[in-house]
Amino acid sequence: SSITGRIAQSFEAVGDTVSEAFFEPVLRVGVTGLSRAGKTVFITALVHNLMEPGRMQRMQAVQRGAIRGVFLQPQPDMTLPRFDYERHLAALTAEAPSWPEGTRAVSELRLSFRLAPSGLFGALTGPRKLHVDIVDYPGEWILDLGLMGKSYAEWSAEVLARLPKRPQAAGYLAQVAAVDAQAKHDEAVAQELARGFTDYLIEARAAGWSDCTPGRFLLPGDLAGSPVLTFAPLPGDTGARGSLWREMARRFDGYKSKVIRPFFEAHFARLDRQVVLVDVLEAVHQGPEALEDQRRAMAEVLRAFRPGANGFFSSLLRGKRVEKILFAATKADHLHHSQHGHLTALIEAMLREARDRAHFSGAETKAISLAALRATVEESRVYQGRELDLVRGVLPDGRQVAVDAGALPADPSRLLAPAREGAERWLQGDYGVMQFAPPVQSRVPGQGLPHVRLDAAAEFLLGDQLL
Ligand code: GDP
Repeated sequence: SSITGRIAQSFEAVGDTVSEAFFEPVLRVGVTGLSRAGKTVFITALVHNLMEPGRMQRMQAVQRGAIRGVFLQPQPDMTLPRFDYERHLAALTAEAPSWPEGTRAVSELRLSFRLAPSGLFGALTGPRKLHVDIVDYPGEWILDLGLMGKSYAEWSAEVLARLPKRPQAAGYLAQVAAVDAQAKHDEAVAQELARGFTDYLIEARAAGWSDCTPGRFLLPGDLAGSPVLTFAPLPGDTGARGSLWREMARRFDGYKSKVIRPFFEAHFARLDRQVVLVDVLEAVHQGPEALEDQRRAMAEVLRAFRPGANGFFSSLLRGKRVEKILFAATKADHLHHSQHGHLTALIEAMLREARDRAHFSGAETKAISLAALRATVEESRVYQGRELDLVRGVLPDGRQVAVDAGALPADPSRLLAPAREGAERWLQGDYGVMQFAPPVQSRVPGQGLPHVRLDAAAEFLLGDQLL
């Protein structure tokens, strides 16, 4: 009997691996957006609120009680850093809460659902399982896909044409003017140029420009200081053997083949669904040029997901394609809810425009506005006979303030007019001071964290798979 016992045991073990491999569906969900768009907060709040779904009533599976259990499991990709969920949640829910450190590189988290049986054979098969692998990666890296089809000469020409319009580039342009691209390669000169170009990218990003490729110059991951990141654009069509120009071109090609391509192969090409977080409010606050740039970046992202648009990428996909893409304007809690409809209308208009620009077809797309973690409460006050819609929050220095971020127009075209044609400036009120600390939580078991429409985002991304 002990032998049969052992056989039964090992059979079970085999059964486990078999069911893991063949019968338990896996959904890979990408979360991206430029630095500070809100990826880390989004994933942390999403996972926590799925585990304690009291505030996720917009999800049908929650309404119907279809979710029997949600738990974290070891992820399948063993060489990828794990998304540090516990540490981020601890920061947000501490007695003195703080924002977690944002995304610097790619990471992954597996969330597994035990679900009520469904379908014709539900009663026979019992509860179902679904694994959701959340893949977090910098939006800066996605924009790199645009470099794949370009030669060093083409890329340089494009970048150098753009730089004179950006005041942050003055230093780098002066450096370029002072070097001879055809001179013999000198590593010190190459490093100086790469540093100057990186400084420009960092400043341009800080000033609100979205299109700041190559993405790894901003977020190098573990490649900091390596030759693939030690290049910069130079004028000219070609360079003699041994010249600075030729060496820069060689490194640019290395960046494409050793950095961009492996990233897309390993992560991007395997996604089923994608959410792109966009800090639209910040771009509106920065002004028309920043908003225009953000729209260009959205089109660039869609182009990356367009089947057949990119020879290199289509060959990787082998017919597989992303099914759903959600564009979410984040940090909606900076605005009173009376303004949320305007913000949604704006991101919807931006998505329509981005789809047109990218000639996008294929995946189902949707745009919403949300706050992954609500850091404010609303307040209405009468001031000089007028009712003001304010939001109240705690500033980093501990002061409580109730502020009026300013308004968004009901008609988004007033924001989206091409910058030169006099697009107006909005959110010029108190928006600039709105750096709210995360709220102190009064934890109710099963209640999760307060948010705005995080459940609507989850419904679009996962809802159909949970029923
Ligand atoms: P990442 O770089 O994309 O990972 O961005 P993070 O998730 O680290 O978010 C960047 C910053 O945006 C945070 O430190 C917060 O200050 C702010 N933030 C993100 N999400 C929210 C939100 O839902 N509400 C508010 N008020 N602020 C947010």
